Amino acid sequence: MSEDKKYKRIILKLSGEAMAGEKGFGIDPTVVYSLAKQIKEVVEHGIEVAVVNGGGNIWRGLSGYNKGMDRATADYMGMLATVINSLALQDALENLEVPTRVQSAIEMRQIAEPYIRRRAIRHMEKERVVIFAAGTGNPYFSTDTTAALRAAEIEADAILMAKKGVDGVYDSDPAKNPDAKKFDTLDYIDVIQRHLNVMDSTANSLCMDNSIPIVVFNIDEPGNILRAAMGEEIGTLVGGKK
Ligand code: UDP
Repeated sequence: MSEDKKYKRIILKLSGEAMAGEKGFGIDPTVVYSLAKQIKEVVEHGIEVAVVNGGGNIWRGLSGYNKGMDRATADYMGMLATVINSLALQDALENLEVPTRVQSAIEMRQIAEPYIRRRAIRHMEKERVVIFAAGTGNPYFSTDTTAALRAAEIEADAILMAKKGVDGVYDSDPAKNPDAKKFDTLDYIDVIQRHLNVMDSTANSLCMDNSIPIVVFNIDEPGNILRAAMGEEIGTLVGGKK
């Protein structure tokens, strides 16, 4: 392959919402299939891909907690939601003949491998897409933090943060403020100090401490996963060099 690749190994963070389609909740297999097609393109360009799925299209721990549930229990439910999304994505990828492995941070041997770092790296070297399910396996964390943690562990070159309805990071909400300004690049510290909507602060700190670039881009535009993975200047780049 003659193309100049900026990244050799990436983590794609897909929010639960990205799997939901029009309704905004649940799983739309057509949407998942189109995501899988885009992921396949990235693999075909020789880039190693791991995916971290969110679960917000099914359940978020904090919503249950705010309505009186035990926080840890509600969070474990959220982690299970990410497993459902991971299996849906695996199904779509395998339909397209992309070999995949789901690795779960909570053991469930009948449907997923346990998370084993070295094995995950080996799979990626063999051009298999690894889907990290069940978050970090710990309550009080998010799948953004999972993406940051796994990126550090497997030495990914970047995290691609796929966002719905927005094409990067703005200084204010572009849906509410027509004068909102988009950033092409940002430092991690600006994200924290200005409370910008990139990832939560735990995840952002982990990326900062380990110098992991974050590419924030719009998932609604077909082909954007490949563009971001190839290092095209789309969206906003946090903590990296354009
Ligand atoms: N979660 C957790 N620990 C983790 C990752 C996720 O407890 O390490 C739970 C948490 O309740 C969270 C839910 O799983 O609300 C779904 O993940 P997230 O909200 O990050 O999904 P997204 O917003 O990306 O769809």
